Amino acid sequence: MFQLKGRVALVTGGSRGIGRAISVALARAGAFVVVNYRGNEAAAHETLEEIRKAGGDGAILGFDVADPAAVDEAIQGIVERHGSLDILVNNAGLAIDQLLMRVKPEEIDKTFATNVAGAIYCAKAAIRPMMRKKHGRIIQISSVVAESGNPGQVVYSASKAALIGMTKTLAREYASRGITVNTVTPGFIETDMTANLPEAARQGILAQTPVGRIGRPEEVAAAVLFLASDEASYVTGQTLGVNGGMYV
Ligand code: NDP
Repeated sequence: MFQLKGRVALVTGGSRGIGRAISVALARAGAFVVVNYRGNEAAAHETLEEIRKAGGDGAILGFDVADPAAVDEAIQGIVERHGSLDILVNNAGLAIDQLLMRVKPEEIDKTFATNVAGAIYCAKAAIRPMMRKKHGRIIQISSVVAESGNPGQVVYSASKAALIGMTKTLAREYASRGITVNTVTPGFIETDMTANLPEAARQGILAQTPVGRIGRPEEVAAAVLFLASDEASYVTGQTLGVNGGMYV
């Protein structure tokens, strides 16, 4: 379908869940995919194995997106080793769920350091090589709760809404350089992040999902693949929901 031959991609948090499915989808389309992880090297290796089984190629690279010096070093290294960085998928994220009254300052700091500052550090380091090439794709993995809100997720939803603002601003800043910036907002997707949700909460979410089932990471990856492709060259600053109709 979409061809990414010759492109180099970085997927942050590519070791597990949605990031793994995105890494495999981009690699299957021909991109060389750098799979980032924070601590789980074994899981990142599994992603790389899946990439190779799918006929693709890539590498794994551990760094914390919340550490700006580590991000700069990692992205400079990618460009030196692989010649460019064409596609950045800001997928790394964490959720610390808490009602407003129980939120601790350190939970806000930790969430924003990874979900927001991490995405900005990565985009900042990636933008120069993309500008030099007059081509680039930045895709942010936000969440349906950025659009709909969700009780118990004040910090997480605020961090994910920040990505939408970031997307719109960067889309305007870099459109003339051939760089598009878009957001994907997944609904409830089966991964480690959602694995421990109590059954009642799971049923509540399903009741609000017209498609009537939980989403698969591959369904998010398909949207990212489109946005990463040359065919999406006139799509920028947009928010693409992959949520089974949960928010329309
Ligand atoms: P998982 O918890 O399954 O995986 C999280 C990934 O992010 C792991 O690869 C982890 O690396 C990595 N990561 C976390 N913090 C950092 C960091 N500081 N630096 C580098 N990597 C980091 O998450 P999902 O696959 O479920 O979610 C992926 C993205 O999609 C997240 O941004 C999430 O908010 C978003 N999302 C998920 C939804 C869902 O229903 N699952 C719904 C909507 C949005 P490691 O393996 O090393 O720990």
